[in-house]
Amino acid sequence: GYPVHASLDGGILVLIGFGSIGRGVLPLIERHIDYDPAKFTVIDPSDEFAHILKKHGVRHLQVALTEENYVDVIKGLFPDGSKGMIVNLSVDVDSGDMMELAHNLGLPYVDTVYEPWPGWYFNPDMESIERCSYPDREELKNTAKERVGGPTCVTCCGANPGMVSWLMKEALLILAKDTGYEGATPKTRDEWARLAMDLRVKGLHIAERDTQVSNRPKGVGEFVNTWSVDGLFNEGFLPAELGWGTHEKKLPPHGHKWDFGPGYAIWIDKPGGETLVRTWVPGVGPQLGFVIVHEESLSIPDYFTVEDDDGKALYRPTCHYAYHPCNDAILSMHEIRGTCQLPEKKHILTAEEIVSGSDDLGVLLYGHAKGAMWYGTRLSNDEAVKLAPYQNATGLQVTSGVLAAMVWIIENPNQGIVWADQMDHARCLEVQKPYLGRVECHYTDWTPIANRITNFPEERDEEDPWQFTNFLAN
Ligand code: NAD
Repeated sequence: GYPVHASLDGGILVLIGFGSIGRGVLPLIERHIDYDPAKFTVIDPSDEFAHILKKHGVRHLQVALTEENYVDVIKGLFPDGSKGMIVNLSVDVDSGDMMELAHNLGLPYVDTVYEPWPGWYFNPDMESIERCSYPDREELKNTAKERVGGPTCVTCCGANPGMVSWLMKEALLILAKDTGYEGATPKTRDEWARLAMDLRVKGLHIAERDTQVSNRPKGVGEFVNTWSVDGLFNEGFLPAELGWGTHEKKLPPHGHKWDFGPGYAIWIDKPGGETLVRTWVPGVGPQLGFVIVHEESLSIPDYFTVEDDDGKALYRPTCHYAYHPCNDAILSMHEIRGTCQLPEKKHILTAEEIVSGSDDLGVLLYGHAKGAMWYGTRLSNDEAVKLAPYQNATGLQVTSGVLAAMVWIIENPNQGIVWADQMDHARCLEVQKPYLGRVECHYTDWTPIANRITNFPEERDEEDPWQFTNFLAN
């Protein structure tokens, strides 16, 4: 038997989107959350995987949510005053609008990305600055202040964003222990930020390597990935955004600061899917990763800021994604940059067709007394297949994060709008770890200015290897 972590108490469960993540979370909900099967509905315009819903006795509402119909459709599923939860795992459904509706209906809510209605990701009439996340995030933080005590709404909680915020805290505790730091385990946001400052963590990468491959070569013009194809190319062509540490000396080329709000992030007027950094993961060692914009690149530096009495940042880490997607996805992105057209044929590699490889996803904390340290999950597809059906290794890292969020929401009602950084990391990882494969910590003496096999000119800061400009590889 599997441990039942929480109960919906006969409430209504509505899951929006039955893609790679929606399908993968279904068996985890069945195992670990007590719910009424007669009150479980999945909304998805596609019937490609309807047979799975049928097999599990879940109702399928085959409709695409739009700006025009979403209120009626959702209200239709929650008769006045009913309890339950909305889990949004779709693309093309506006997260802000869904949160607002859930709030008005008094319902808890969780999603894994802050998604807009269609028309925002690719719009040549929009300036790059209008396609940045920081302004929307600041607005949502203001809304969150007004909603304290309202139904719990967890924004952006899968693997990353999501789990990596919990790994960050666990990594800091390990680093504290390994460096002989004497201090109590932090309880408040300010104490966590001070711990990162005391340990002199200059920054962190969300450092990921996906080595999953199938034995069918990708066709020309076909976009292949291990999770949402739409998700990857949508965010891959947004401007690169990253948390900007207080130790940074110089903005990167095309880099811009914000002239309002706390200013914990910068944006680069270049797609994240074309912005490469040097990074490090266990197993392969040094590698290149994309600085694709993600919520955690903004939420982590915001959370870990130490302010002086005037509200000025004394300390803040640099933070960004450094993502090496699976080989097929790299090639797919490369082709899209050439064709300048959206892909016609899309495919997500299934657990069954993947013949080898794993997803290694963790936080790489650098600049501290021990150089750099990677802490994260190393999950092979072979292992994922044994742990739960309908998903590859990437999927399981995400769906177990969604499961942890659902459990935490039930255990913590009326928290208003919450980011993963504010949740109880220990409880969430406790729920999630049985699905993460090996959770490992690795130290390395690697720096971004180590190892070159050529001698082309490059801008380097030899004094401080941990400057962002040293990581930047193009
Ligand atoms: P997917 O592309 O496999 O599936 C998306 C599903 O949404 C599809 O089944 C599609 O039919 C459905 N959909 C499309 N338009 C819709 C509409 N208007 N109304 C309702 N449903 C609609 O994507 P996925 O891999 O399952 O990912 C789901 C979401 O989770 C994406 O937004 C993705 O970016 C996000 N995600 C987050 C993380 C994380 O770690 N935080 C990781 C992976 C994916």
